[in-house]
Amino acid sequence: MRGFLIVGNEAFTEPFNLSDLPGAGRMDILCRCVSQALFLSHSIRKRVEVYLLLLGEPDPPKAIRIISDELRRMSPDERNIGGHLRKAVSFKASKDWMEVNSGVYVARKTLRDLLVEVSESYEIYYLREDGKDIREEVTKMKNPLFVLGDHIGVRRAEEDVILEFSSGVLSVSGLSLMAEQCVAIVNYELDRTNI
Ligand code: SAM
Repeated sequence: MRGFLIVGNEAFTEPFNLSDLPGAGRMDILCRCVSQALFLSHSIRKRVEVYLLLLGEPDPPKAIRIISDELRRMSPDERNIGGHLRKAVSFKASKDWMEVNSGVYVARKTLRDLLVEVSESYEIYYLREDGKDIREEVTKMKNPLFVLGDHIGVRRAEEDVILEFSSGVLSVSGLSLMAEQCVAIVNYELDRTNI
């Protein structure tokens, strides 16, 4: 298994306008991360999970979980993925995952709740520009899950929590990249190592 957890610092927690994904707390970034995490050319990757932590108004926190092996009717374009996320935030979230579409779940979870949960099945790595080169670690990884920020990055309070759970801080480049670019590079690095 491999996983990604993206922190949406301002991502809306109520239904939003699909014609203005950037205006929904940069929901466009989350949609592109989902697309890069899950989609191949004409197919969906196997054994990938994506977690989105939505911290924007009016009802934070909400978490969305997408399981590639269960997905139906999702396509790689931002608007389609945005439609799934929009539906997910329209439900009243409780602490347990509720399936809102095949392979798409929503719950009310804090970052700590999520990390406690995923740490049962994943080794957690924090992606940051100044981290250790991922190529030095990638061959040793078993069931890695990568945590990354959006356009704002990861705020100090959230970073402190991530560092409590993480097995390492890793970099994919000396440059500050967009979140979705990092997701694509991580998939590439894991693919070439057959993880
Ligand atoms: N201004 C933000 C900052 O300084 O954190 C930029 C955040 S960047 C657009 C989004 C996320 O991608 C970051 O929070 C980090 O998790 C990840 N990221 C960006 N460049 C990276 C790199 N070279 N290596 C690893 N992760 C990176």
